[in-house]
Amino acid sequence: MYIDVHCHLDMLKNIDEIIKNAKKKNVNVIVSAGVDIETNRKTLELSEKFQEVRACLGIYPDEALKMSDKEIDSEIEFINKNKEKVWGIGEVGMDFSGNDKDNEKQERVFEKFIELSKKLDKPIVVHSRKAEEECIEVLEKLKAKKVVMHYFSGRLKLVERIVNNGWMLSIPTAVKNSEHFQKVVEIVPIENLLCETDSPYSHPDKKFPNEPANVVESYKMIAKIKGLGLNEVEEKIEKNFERLVK
Ligand SMILES: [Zn+2]
Repeated sequence: MYIDVHCHLDMLKNIDEIIKNAKKKNVNVIVSAGVDIETNRKTLELSEKFQEVRACLGIYPDEALKMSDKEIDSEIEFINKNKEKVWGIGEVGMDFSGNDKDNEKQERVFEKFIELSKKLDKPIVVHSRKAEEECIEVLEKLKAKKVVMHYFSGRLKLVERIVNNGWMLSIPTAVKNSEHFQKVVEIVPIENLLCETDSPYSHPDKKFPNEPANVVESYKMIAKIKGLGLNEVEEKIEKNFERLVK
């Protein structure tokens, strides 16, 4: 069984068709992430409608900047209330790309979500664009354990630090054409790897939209780089995924 550990199903059209395509390819678990109040509710609905879908709820860093602290706290309360239906916390993190962002507020919100994931003992899926080291520092400070660094584009030194912390890196389907991610696969032990599509983004052949069925491309690349059989990669990554929710 293949697993897509990070995508945004709510952003895709014809979701019935998308799920069918995934199942045909043996992609039987799809973790879909909300990014704000509206998509968190949509994601919950999808997880109730399709048994393949797991809900990951959070507030994307740029969205958090548009919200008041009160609104953020009430969304955290919403997630807490729905904890039985939630697989993990995400997409959350920090994003220092672009100008004039309130980095302090980003950190404050990120800390709240890390605390939530610890309290619920659920994985946290982290977005860290241009804030890679800063995200790692905050996660280390708060002693987060069930961490998935999604689409991690930081330096290889930082990749090593993630591995030393015992966290996971999810390899996007873009690995097919990305030397950076191919290098990441090379240096990270398979025990620390998961796979994601980040659908609708990040299509393996740079098309749009991407979909969970394509996650197989990440698995194939890992098999090729590590010199393992596809079945072996499939089994190991399924074990990694299970370890996260233990
Ligand atoms: Zn995403």
